[in-house]
Amino acid sequence: MKILFVASEAYPLVKTGGLGDVLYSLPHALHDRGADIRLVLPGYRALLRQLEQVRILGWLDVRGDAGMVTARILEARHPDFAFPLWLVDCPPLFDRVGNPYVDATGQDWPDNAERFTVFSRVAALLAQDALDLGWQPRVVHTHDWQTGLVAAFLAEQPVRPKTVFTIHNLAYGGHFSHSDFVRLQLPSQWWSPEGAEFHGGFSMLKAGIVYADAITTVSPTYAQEICTPEFGYGLDGLLLSRQYKLHGILNGIDTQIWNPSTDPLLPAHYSMSRIQPGKRRNKQALLERFMPRADDDAMQAPLLGLVGRLVEQKGIDWVLAALPVLLAETDARIVLLGSGQAAYEQKLARLARQHPDRLFVEIGYDESLAHLIEAGADLFLMPSRFEPCGLNQMYSLRYGTPPVVFKTGGLADTVVDADETTLADATATGFVFGSSGVETFLEAIHRGLDLYRQPSKWRRLQQSGMSRSFDWNESAGHYLSLYSI
Ligand code: ADP
Repeated sequence: MKILFVASEAYPLVKTGGLGDVLYSLPHALHDRGADIRLVLPGYRALLRQLEQVRILGWLDVRGDAGMVTARILEARHPDFAFPLWLVDCPPLFDRVGNPYVDATGQDWPDNAERFTVFSRVAALLAQDALDLGWQPRVVHTHDWQTGLVAAFLAEQPVRPKTVFTIHNLAYGGHFSHSDFVRLQLPSQWWSPEGAEFHGGFSMLKAGIVYADAITTVSPTYAQEICTPEFGYGLDGLLLSRQYKLHGILNGIDTQIWNPSTDPLLPAHYSMSRIQPGKRRNKQALLERFMPRADDDAMQAPLLGLVGRLVEQKGIDWVLAALPVLLAETDARIVLLGSGQAAYEQKLARLARQHPDRLFVEIGYDESLAHLIEAGADLFLMPSRFEPCGLNQMYSLRYGTPPVVFKTGGLADTVVDADETTLADATATGFVFGSSGVETFLEAIHRGLDLYRQPSKWRRLQQSGMSRSFDWNESAGHYLSLYSI
């Protein structure tokens, strides 16, 4: 089966979050099952510089903001990818320094409407084999708002591939103005509440929801949650009316990249049958990134870790409220890695300066430190207010680092709370709090710290998390069935 993937990021070439991870591991899981894949990505400067074997497939002219824009289509082979990559090389839109979506000050690029409309127009043409390459996909699988218009452009075509649109996070809607809509000469029939119009502007995410043949989101619980006002960002009514084509398919993780017994980013390896001393050596290495020597006190004390975007979604305000309590009432050490909202970054950094032996904060993006935290921490904190799927909690389960999570979305689908029953039957994998707020978050952490002091129970908890299979096997099968309908 020929499948065209269209996305705005893919690990390891360009990644800002879980979307990038999925755009690496899902198409590979499908490739391993015999699918013939092409992955279309924007030709960002940083991405093109990582490619060596590149050939030009052709040129496509599409409507931009102020007239026609020419995109050069490149095909590249990359050692990390088992299938060809197709790059939309359009220097005025993508040849710039920095993040795919925002400038150095964290503001959206002012021309994002044009960038992702042009990208989607080109992808829709490639899906119809406009370059006469003799490669006609049966399915076009697009991801998040940046690609929402692809299904909309294709919906206009009498003969076309099936379109699947995956929502990785409903909070990012790709909202733009009416004047963008007019300048980009988008089809006037889309300008209606039944189309892409949204509160006086238009939403690329909404276009994907309306026009795709099938919509998926990345966990079964999130698929239900987004149909409610609390999680729906104003699209819950629309999603409810489209439930017949909405599917929740849990993300998998790449179990080769995230494997504590082979991970090249770890100083020591370990597995379920022998967690210590490997995990302990990682804990020591992690502590010694932040202190000259990890003494006995620090090694004995529980170490809590967090990796993630420092935004409201991730419950960082609960973390900020919980930290002084944990520092005052427990002997826990805490390591936090992330970047995001400046106010959170500053508050965390200030608190860390006040507690240099207990609280370690690294502001930034650091893939190898992320792996070391997953392996070296004892408990992993992920109190997201909402979480479409979440990958970090699955990484932490696999690394024997039980997570503390809020009962929402993919967190609810992947972590089993440790209570009397689940501890007794060895199904417990972490600590889940069911009502939102710092009190319940702290209560779950305290339950974790209590169990940490009971080594044999703790080891069983670690082992049951490590034995859970989060590979792509089952989910890739669900996607293949959906493509075949
Ligand atoms: P989201 O996609 O909402 O950011 P996920 O848990 O699904 O959250 O995926 C986050 C991914 O990004 C994980 O692979 C995580 O390790 C990585 N990540 C997030 N922040 C950082 C950071 N500051 N440094 C390194 N990796 C990070």
